[in-house]
Amino acid sequence: MRIDIISVVPELMTSAFSHSILKRAIAAGLAEVNLINLRDYATGKQKQVDDYAFGGGAGMVMMIEPIAACINDLKSKTHYDEVIYMSPDGERLTQKISNQLSMLKNLIILCGHYKGVDERVREHFITREISIGDYVLSGGELAASVLSDSIIRLIPGVLNDETSALSDSFQDNLLAPPVYTRPAEYQGWAVPEILLSGHSKKIEQWRHEQSVLRTKQRRPDLLA
Ligand code: SAH
Repeated sequence: MRIDIISVVPELMTSAFSHSILKRAIAAGLAEVNLINLRDYATGKQKQVDDYAFGGGAGMVMMIEPIAACINDLKSKTHYDEVIYMSPDGERLTQKISNQLSMLKNLIILCGHYKGVDERVREHFITREISIGDYVLSGGELAASVLSDSIIRLIPGVLNDETSALSDSFQDNLLAPPVYTRPAEYQGWAVPEILLSGHSKKIEQWRHEQSVLRTKQRRPDLLA
């Protein structure tokens, strides 16, 4: 899978892709992430990418020309399955969407900044708009990193133990069960006996019960 992320501050995302699971996925060739600086597609001495909003009001708007030049250039070399715009008014990101996107081959993600992008970009270039939650960030970079992380970890082979993504929260509309590691007892606080029993069938059953219980208590909407 290849993800091309367009941004005016790509440096904001370098760290997200240079550590741990994502770093390994990229090193293993399971994912390719290209951080593209929109300013490289801006013209003129100022390399301008934003301008005042028509009609007045505070805040700059990202211009259509550099974005169009960038997306058209990328599209001339690669076929993209989706051109995604990160936006607080987009569809809310869920595990289901991440699962769908993880099965695609090539994605463009456009990060907004300032007041967002000229509406004509959204109308003519964007195929999908995604929000990571009902709050407003300064820019789309952290949101794009969140989206990319949630997708890349689902690509087969990225997680060491492939079943580990399947047992994560939301994967089957259930929250994950509690987990424990050594020591088996800390200041009198003991790990549930069953987990030390070695009975894999019973442990599996206990974990499922705990998942259901936790979901009922914390997110009954998932069971509806
Ligand atoms: N004026 C816009 C917000 C602009 S915030 C509005 O009120 O809807 C600047 C940029 O940050 C946006 O263009 C978007 O790319 C990104 N962004 C902010 N909040 C986000 C969220 N919850 N999910 C995804 N992207 C977000």
